[in-house]
Amino acid sequence: MANKQSAANSMTRTLLTLIGEQRDLQVLGLTPGQLQGKKIRKSLMEEFNNACAYCGTSLTDTTMEMDHVIPMNKASVGLHMYGNLVPSCKPCNTSKHFFSLEQFAASHPDRVSGASTARIQDRAIRHGADLDTQPLREFIEAFYAGMAPLIEEKKAQALALLPGPTQVVQETRLAIQKKSEYDFTEFAKLFPLGSIVRAKLDGKEGVVVDYALEGDPGKRKPYVRFLYEPTGKKITRSPKQLEVIRQS
Ligand SMILES: [Zn+2]
Repeated sequence: MANKQSAANSMTRTLLTLIGEQRDLQVLGLTPGQLQGKKIRKSLMEEFNNACAYCGTSLTDTTMEMDHVIPMNKASVGLHMYGNLVPSCKPCNTSKHFFSLEQFAASHPDRVSGASTARIQDRAIRHGADLDTQPLREFIEAFYAGMAPLIEEKKAQALALLPGPTQVVQETRLAIQKKSEYDFTEFAKLFPLGSIVRAKLDGKEGVVVDYALEGDPGKRKPYVRFLYEPTGKKITRSPKQLEVIRQS
């Protein structure tokens, strides 16, 4: 489900990609777009001796996934650049999600050793990818804040250009609404998909990563998947049990 927040997130990600690629071009001489190529995958695998940068599991070309060490979102401002990419196994990539390297290492000490963390950090410095600065954070924050209302405004302008629904469409609409068991409108306002919503469950902080309808047909109810940060454990709960942390 796209909304202005997820659209603003996509735009932020695109901007972080463009900035990172340009920086790699200027500093390392890498052509934009080259990071997706086979050569870079091969080079990363060689650098890390065909193993996951976090846990050291052996990787093949098919099991290897590329992970951004600093996540590419407005909270972490990771850039799409060579020094921010590492080869990762699927389990590490999945459980790291949008955690920083430090958070991931702290929550998975059995998986990420101090030596792996130090190696990844040192490598980022050598490749000029240690660019998580306060000015960049503020810049991205302002960009994101500007994008959300702009997208909303443009969406409204575009909708005004479209013709109204025909009689046939109106009938279909009524039929669809009759079938649907739950109206997600209010729910989506609280937990917009694609955006990072921080919340508390029993006083413990984490983030809402997903929601879904669950239960028997006719009695379905919305549930929220909550990622409890210190352990990285995913917990499914009724949204009523969560206390959303409002961010300014
Ligand atoms: Zn791994």
